[in-house]
Amino acid sequence: MVSLKKVKQELIAFGLINLIIAVNITLASFVHIPFGDFKGFSLYFLYFSALQLTIFGFTYILALNKYLFYTIFPVIFISSSTIAFWVYTQDMSINYGLIESVLESKTDIAFDLISPQFVLYFIWIIFATFLCIRFYKNSSPLKLKSPLFLLAILCVCGFFTGQHLKRDVFTSKLPYNIISAIKKYSEKPTRIYNQTFEDELSKTVDSIDIVFVLGESVRADHLGINGYDRETTPLLNLQQNLISYSNIYTPLTYTAISVPQILSNQSIHDTLIKEYTILYSILNELKISTTWIGNQSIEKSYESIIKENKNVYLIDAFHSVLSFKKQKDEELIKVFDIIDRDSAFTFTTIHMIGSHWFYDSRYTAKHKKFTPTAKSKFLKSSTKDELINSYDNTLIYLDWFLNSIIEKLKPSKTPTLLIYISDHGEILGENNQWLHAQNNKASTNPAMLIWYSDSFKREFPVKTEALLENKNKTNSTDLIFNSILHLLQVEGFPYKASNSIFYSNPKQ
Ligand SMILES: [Zn+2]
Repeated sequence: MVSLKKVKQELIAFGLINLIIAVNITLASFVHIPFGDFKGFSLYFLYFSALQLTIFGFTYILALNKYLFYTIFPVIFISSSTIAFWVYTQDMSINYGLIESVLESKTDIAFDLISPQFVLYFIWIIFATFLCIRFYKNSSPLKLKSPLFLLAILCVCGFFTGQHLKRDVFTSKLPYNIISAIKKYSEKPTRIYNQTFEDELSKTVDSIDIVFVLGESVRADHLGINGYDRETTPLLNLQQNLISYSNIYTPLTYTAISVPQILSNQSIHDTLIKEYTILYSILNELKISTTWIGNQSIEKSYESIIKENKNVYLIDAFHSVLSFKKQKDEELIKVFDIIDRDSAFTFTTIHMIGSHWFYDSRYTAKHKKFTPTAKSKFLKSSTKDELINSYDNTLIYLDWFLNSIIEKLKPSKTPTLLIYISDHGEILGENNQWLHAQNNKASTNPAMLIWYSDSFKREFPVKTEALLENKNKTNSTDLIFNSILHLLQVEGFPYKASNSIFYSNPKQ
């Protein structure tokens, strides 16, 4: 029989160890979430408690062998607490990009992160590690018969059941997300890209400036320019030479899979077993200056696509999309203003955070046209109307954003083109679904716009006419790759001209 006294000792020891883990690590994933109302707070409290119980389960099982506990626990505890410090203070996103920076010795970033506060915190972590080991030593020898062992097994089972029922429910939070990020980092790329060309590539167009704006979560039917009953595009409506394409389709409804498809010769119908070619590899081969300016953290699936650009500027790559510290897209314009676009042929990509949830973090006070807006990041604490108001305000911001870039492009004498496409759409309560990564007409119909300069119209009259002809045509996101190669009249690489937005149907 296990004595009650020993169980009590164990309970106190593991209670204290878990309290230290909770304060140092687990809570960091929750402090930046606004809870909204009491219901939101209660749900997050339950979530936090369930997460901590799973951590108790694993800690207890590790502690069954004291040698394992003395060696492994300090390593996991100290490294997780260190990362939690940056989550607490900076709301850093624990993702593959962060692990890459830490492991691939980007020392400038590492040194930037060390502050006097961090040194103090680190001293506390070492002290806390000793405390945990002390608590463990003072508890009675652990036995498999202990009721806490049974509880630990239940908690570990709870971890796997939770993960099975809702993907990443626990592994999206500290400390588990560190393991997920390391795992992602060590995985092989999901797509293989061919970066060499058998034939020499050539183009017939001499000079053009293309600005390609890759949007986020913008559904076509919420743009005023497409007939939405709210005026969400007041500035773009006044622009001449601007065409909206409201019938674009993609079945790929989240960034990690839609972006690689849009920016390569992968079709929406293709599987991943084939080898693809990145659009930028072709542009580089044609001696076109390529620049990427991004406001999203890098996903492994499109890392090689971004890095194929000659110049890469990533603003705010380490803040998660849910962070309140996440920069707004206007920071992209500041970089766009200073980059060198003087060569005859340039292709600049601007990757926005756009209309990604949490909508209210995406626009400034001056773009808050529709009220009242969402109450918190907890979806259920706001009404449908409030969420749609918040979403539509992100489109007011987008209208201002694109209009600002168009105004900057206008004075140029070089034929200039702005192509905007969202990576996918967004669901706003249809069939009680929200956000994206789920199939629904709203998430599969991304917004797309093209603006061309007067000099572009003079230089490419037939192609400009085709842009108008194709306005209402149903098309898929395959058209971006095909349109750009068709516009440049690329030879030496296959593409489908008939799938290009610049393609004019031969007259009967
Ligand atoms: Zn996306």
